[in-house]
Parts: sequence; C-alpha cells; structure tokens
Amino acid sequence: MAKKNIVIIGAGPGGLTAGMILAARGHKVSIYEKESKVGGRNAAIEMNGYKFDIGPTFLMMTFVLREMFAEAGRKLEDYCKLIPLEPMYSLSFKNFELCPTTDKAKMNEQISKLFPGNENGLAKFHEKEKLRYDAMYPCLKKDYSTFKEMFSKPLIKALPKLSLGRSLMDVLGDYFTEEELRICFTFQAKYIGMSPWECPAAFAIMPYIEHSMGIDHVEGGLSKISEAMAKVIGELGGEIHLNSPVKKVCVEKGNATGVELTDGQIVKADSVVINADFGHAMKTLFDKNVIKKWSPEKLRDKKYSCSTFMIYLGVDKIYDEPHHKIVFANDYKENVKDIINRSRLSDDMSVYVRNASKLDPTIAPPGHSALYMLVPTPNMRNELPWDEASKKTFRDKVIKRVMERTSMKDLDKHITCEKIITPVEWQNERSLFLGATFNLGHTITQMLYLRPRNKFEEVGHCYLVGGGTHPGSGLPTIYESARISADLIERFEK
Ligand SMILES: Cc1cc2nc3c(=O)[nH]c(=O)nc-3n(C[C@H](O)[C@H](O)[C@H](O)COP(=O)(O)OP(=O)(O)OC[C@H]3O[C@@H](n4cnc5c(N)ncnc54)[C@H](O)[C@@H]3O)c2cc1C
Repeated sequence: MAKKNIVIIGAGPGGLTAGMILAARGHKVSIYEKESKVGGRNAAIEMNGYKFDIGPTFLMMTFVLREMFAEAGRKLEDYCKLIPLEPMYSLSFKNFELCPTTDKAKMNEQISKLFPGNENGLAKFHEKEKLRYDAMYPCLKKDYSTFKEMFSKPLIKALPKLSLGRSLMDVLGDYFTEEELRICFTFQAKYIGMSPWECPAAFAIMPYIEHSMGIDHVEGGLSKISEAMAKVIGELGGEIHLNSPVKKVCVEKGNATGVELTDGQIVKADSVVINADFGHAMKTLFDKNVIKKWSPEKLRDKKYSCSTFMIYLGVDKIYDEPHHKIVFANDYKENVKDIINRSRLSDDMSVYVRNASKLDPTIAPPGHSALYMLVPTPNMRNELPWDEASKKTFRDKVIKRVMERTSMKDLDKHITCEKIITPVEWQNERSLFLGATFNLGHTITQMLYLRPRNKFEEVGHCYLVGGGTHPGSGLPTIYESARISADLIERFEK
C-alpha cells in the first residue's frame, strides 16, 4: 500500500500504540497532544521527587502489550522492566482479608479457611471461564465496522458463552455460594466502571484473566509504558507534538482531510485517528451538524462508567502494606448502588490504595513513598458539587477511612505533598465526557457493532482508538483497538 500521511489526535495509550504500529508499517505519523507530556490517563504526575501514575496501575494480559511492541519490531523488555505481583492484591473486608494469587493450591487454602464448602468452586471457575475466554478473546481482537461482522465465525462461536441476560454476579454464583467470596471475583467490574450486579456476565473473563495469567507492575510506574511507546515512535521516524491541542477535525464532503490546531495551523492528512475521549471528541472536535448519530444531544442518552476521586500522596515513610489493596465498604452492594444508581457519595465507601514504593523505590525519594488512592464515585451526569469545601471534606473522609482500615494509622502525620483529581476535574481539565473515567459503559447495547466503530461510521478517512471504541476500556483492549484501527487503515486507505 502507498504510504500515508496520518495524523493522530492524542498521545494516550490508544494513540501511542496506533502511532507505533503505523510508523513501523512505514506511514508518516504525526501525533498532536494537548498536554505537555505523553500518556493521557496513563501519564505520570511528578511532584517534589515523587512520581505517581495518574490512572492505570494494574497491567493485565501483558502478552498483548508484548505483541504491540513486536508489531513495531521491538521487544517490550528492552524498554520496560516488568515485575509480576504475587499475591496479586489484597482484598480487605470488615472481618477478613483475602490475598488472591495465581497459585491455585494457595488460593484454595485461603478459600477453604475463610469460606468452607466453597473449595470446589475454584477449579470449576477455571475450567468454565477458560472456555469463555477462549471463545471471546478472538471477538475482542477483530473489528465490527460492518453489521456483517456480527455474523462472523468467532462471534457466532462465542454466543453461547456470553450468558446473555445474566450478570457477572449471577455467573459467579455458579461457583461460590458466599456473596463476599463472589465479590472477590466480581469487583473487577469496577475496572470498567460498572456494578457487578449489572455488568454483563461475559466480563467474567476479567477475573479469569487475572487468576490464570497474573498481573504485573512496571518499574517506575505504568506511565513508563507510554514513555517507552513514545520513544519507539521517535525511533521509527514518527513525530509527537506536545502542547498542541487540536481544535477540530477538518471535514470536506463527509471525509476527514486533516486537523486544525488551536493556534490556527492546518495540518493536512490522508487519514485522521482520534484518541481523545470519544464523548469529548464528538462534543468538541467537529463543526456543527457533521455528527448525527453521536451528536452531543444523543451522547447524553448513552450509558457511562462511574468516575473516580483520586488522591496522590507524597509520604515521608514506607509502609508495610500490600502493593494493591482494596478496602471494601462494610456494605459493598449499597456502596455500588450509591455510585451507579443513586448518584451520591457513600459515607461507607470503598477505597483502592496502591503502595508501590515498598516494591519499587524508583518512584519516591529514599525512605519515602508515593501513595495512590482511588475512590469510585458517580460521574458528572447529575453534577455533584465538587467545590473546594466538598473536595476537602471528602478528602478527609478518605484519609480517615484508610487510616482506620489499614496499618497506616499515622498516615496524616507523614504527608509531605498531595494532589487531588475530582470528577469535575476529570471532566473539565482532562477532557473526559461527564468525567466518566472508564469511558462509555460496557452494556450489551454499547458493545461490538453497537459501540462507536474503529472505522468511524460518520466521517470517511477517520478512525477511532482508545477506551471509547471497540473492544473497550482497559489497557489490553485499548492496545487491541489501536491494532484493529491500524489494520483497517491498511485495508481501506489504499
Ligand atoms: C483512575 C484510572 C485508573 C485506571 N486503572 C486502570 C488499570 O489499572 N488498568 C487498566 O488496564 N486500565 C485502567 N484504566 C483505564 C484505561 O486504561 C486508561 O484510562 C487509559 O489511559 C485510557 O487510554 P485512552 O488511549 O483511551 O485515552 P487517554 O489516556 O485519555 O488519552 C487520550 C489523549 O488525548 C488527548 N487529547 C484529548 N483531546 C485532545 C485534543 N483536542 N487535542 C490533542 N490531544 C487531545 C488527551 O490529553 C490524552 O492524552 C484506568 C483509568 C483511570 C482514569
């Protein structure tokens, strides 16, 4: 194929992966990123010698990332040092703590101690969910840009494994009788900002993937992956323009012809790839009346993920706490209902705490740690007030919760610096539609052909990558979205 001039809007994981693959295939790649660094939600915040991942901290399916580097003729391990986590994380409930591990014997030991009678469930979970994963993964790797693709072999084969009409929580009931144990295998619904009681059963592949393949940390934080991708793009002759916000996609006769930057510069392109958050892009990146199906009015009617309240703390000591810990609300089901259905903040909240400095001393000054806290919250559909006073009140509640429910009893006395991101800041400063940190929801009606398509259905020569398109939010699927769109460019942009 003749080599093309391709402009990518945004240097998040989706844009960087697409840039790496397209540059390796010989295309002229120019990425325009509005921020001063690459990575988007997968960038780092650096403050007083501490380095915090803004968003992703769990790296699943590392083989997918390896494949993306291989697509670019590179070896991941030459750019990033991966550290497998065993146990993977700690799940802390009011009355017990479970530390899931890929070691099935050790996992079963914990189950039999805490939930006697449920021991046989783990083997059944592995056996059944492997079949689901084997059937579904090929569907996640392919594109659904035409309706015909809905009748393609992989999807037809996977249909019986989708357990349509059932929720993630329902399916885990096939393996485990105790609700708290089922929560330990379904809280992963939060990775896509959903409730385990509503999340489609097909997502049972998420706990299966963790329990069968494990998870990794990247030395220096997961933002190192974005930095590594940017390096590869440079090595392959691609360009990344930082501090370069795109004002709009230029469209002539229904086809993208390039982009206009906010400084007025017009950059011509054969194809435009959009990595900016989908909802935000539809609302801001096209002239009025260009977009019909995904117009700003129609966008609000769609379902979105929850948002998150983030606290990044520089601390002058290192705590002997797990790398990843999830502190569950005393009544988790009510907490999830508050977030997803009632749109209110729970006093009885769940908090995820990452204490990476114990394992990885590179992210903080010696003897210090860079702590990361994430509280799932409602998104901005109902516009909760996040003024300075409510931000401070909620911040204090989160810190109190963490001090009460972990061994970090003196945490408030050791904070040297901090940064907070609220849902309204995700929306206004980080350009996420409704502050939905995990994008458009993953309901059956917003997946595959029904999700915004990789070959964008409304404008020619325009492609989507990132969490808002198929296959969906989460690093491995975002990497796949970039490979799918790169392949579509090869196929359609002759
Ligand atoms: C708090 C949090 C925790 C997460 N944890 C995990 C996890 O543990 N594991 C996991 O797999 N996933 C996780 N995710 C989900 C997902 O992997 C990340 O959100 C990921 O960064 C999304 O990548 P993306 O490419 O879709 O978009 P983004 O990372 O948002 O990148 C989009 C880029 O486009 C840029 N942009 C937007 N508008 C313009 C414009 N007009 N001009 C130029 N540039 C523009 C943005 O600045 C940004 O750099 C998490 C997400 C969040 C928010």
